[in-house]
Amino acid sequence: MHDPDCLFCKIVEGEIPSTKVYENEFVYAFEDISPMMPTHVLVVPKDHYDNIADNIPAEELGHLMQGAVDVARLRGLVGDGFRIVINTNDDACQTVHHVHVHVLGGEQMNDGNPHIA
Ligand code: 5GP
Ligand code: ZN
Repeated sequence: MHDPDCLFCKIVEGEIPSTKVYENEFVYAFEDISPMMPTHVLVVPKDHYDNIADNIPAEELGHLMQGAVDVARLRGLVGDGFRIVINTNDDACQTVHHVHVHVLGGEQMNDGNPHIA
């Protein structure tokens, strides 16, 4: 499913350029345009869902989370650690309404709630 008005659908389709980090049948991962950490990668399902609560089939959710872990492993972050963030709707400052997982790492983070907007 492709939403012609959706920024991340356009990135998945290659209509808008991005710096690819990883791709498989189900997910596409690319560098965030405004990185907040040495590694700041966005992982998205190739199908469009507005957010993590948009009735995503469990199997698809599994592929999304596996994609995030695959990116962390690719970047060598598993040993030192990494954080994944999924902003959902306004209180969490979701700005792009195609579900995406932020994969963050590469330096020490604090133990508070990050503001990834
Ligand atoms: P949100 O605030 O919705 O959780 O995160 C959206 C993220 O998408 C932000 O971190 C923002 O920097 C990133 N972003 C917005 N537009 C683009 C774009 O055109 N290309 C890329 N690579 N990232 C984008
Ligand atoms: Zn989309």
